[in-house]
Amino acid sequence: MSRARPHPLRELLRVKPGSRIRLADVDPNETHGRDKETAARTLQKGLDRLTDLQDRLWAEQKHPVLIVLQGIDAAGKDGSVRHVMTAFNPMGCSVTSFKVPTLIELAHDYLWRVHQRTPGKGEIAIFNRSHYEDVLVVRVHDIVPKQVWSKRYDEINAFEELLTSSGTTILKFFLWIDRDEQKARFQDRLDDPAKRWKFRLGDLDERKLWDSYVAADEEVLRRCSTDAAPWYVIPANKKWFRNLAIAEILADTLEDLDPQYPPSTEDLTGVVVE
Ligand code: AMP
Ligand code: MG
Repeated sequence: MSRARPHPLRELLRVKPGSRIRLADVDPNETHGRDKETAARTLQKGLDRLTDLQDRLWAEQKHPVLIVLQGIDAAGKDGSVRHVMTAFNPMGCSVTSFKVPTLIELAHDYLWRVHQRTPGKGEIAIFNRSHYEDVLVVRVHDIVPKQVWSKRYDEINAFEELLTSSGTTILKFFLWIDRDEQKARFQDRLDDPAKRWKFRLGDLDERKLWDSYVAADEEVLRRCSTDAAPWYVIPANKKWFRNLAIAEILADTLEDLDPQYPPSTEDLTGVVVE
C-alpha cells in the first residue's frame, strides 16, 4: 500500500497574515512526519525539481524571484544557501549577505541598499539577512529611536507590495532554533578551526539578548507576513529538515509560476546546420 502524500509544508509552515505566532510554541525539532532515513532522497528530488525550474525561469526571463533568509545567529542561514541554492545555475542567481551598513549606506534610507539587489526578470535573488535587520538588530539595540523603527513595518510592507505588484515572487524563511542548539553550534564554531572565523565574542552578547530578539521576530512575523509575500517559520534544529523544507516550499512556489522555455523569436523552419 502506498503511503499518502504528506501534507505540503508550504501550508503547514506559512504564517497566516496577522496571526500571532509565539515562537516558544513552535518546536524547532518538528519534522511533520518526514523522516531522516528518506530525507536525503526527498531532498535530492526537491533539488532536481529546482534545477529544472530555475533553468526554465532564466530562459523565460519573465518572473523575478526573491528569497529572504532570516534567523538568529547560527540558525543556519549560510548553510541553507550552501545546501539548497546549489540546485541553481549561478547564472541568473545572486546572493547578497547584508552586513552592518557602510557609511554610504547609512547616508541613504534603509531600503536603498536592498532595492539595488532585488531580482530582475528571470533572476533569483537570495538575501542572507535583509531589510528586516532594520526592525530586528536595530530595534534590539536602539540604533534608531522607536518612533523611527516602529514605522518600518508598514514601510516594509509597502516596499514588498511594490515588488510583488511589479511581478516579483517573494518567499521569506525564518529559521527557528532554540537556545540549546545555538549553544551547541557556537561551541562547534569555537572548537573547529574551519569554523572559528565565524565566531565573534560579540555573538555571546547577542545571545544574552535572546528574548528581545524573539519579541522582535514575533512582531515581524505578525505584521509582515502577507498573502503576496508570506513568511515561513522553518523548524531548524535539524539541518536535514530545514534543507528539505526550504527546497520543497521553493519548488512548489516556482512550479506555480509554471516557467516555460520560450519559442524562438525567428522562423527556424528548414534551417540546416552545415
Ligand atoms: P553575519 O551575518 O554573521 O556575517 O553578521 C552580519 C552582522 O551585520 C550581524 O550582526 C547583523 O546584525 C549586522 N547587520 C545587518 N544589517 C544590519 C543593519 N541594518 N543595522 C545594523 N546591523 C546590521
Ligand atoms: Mg555572525
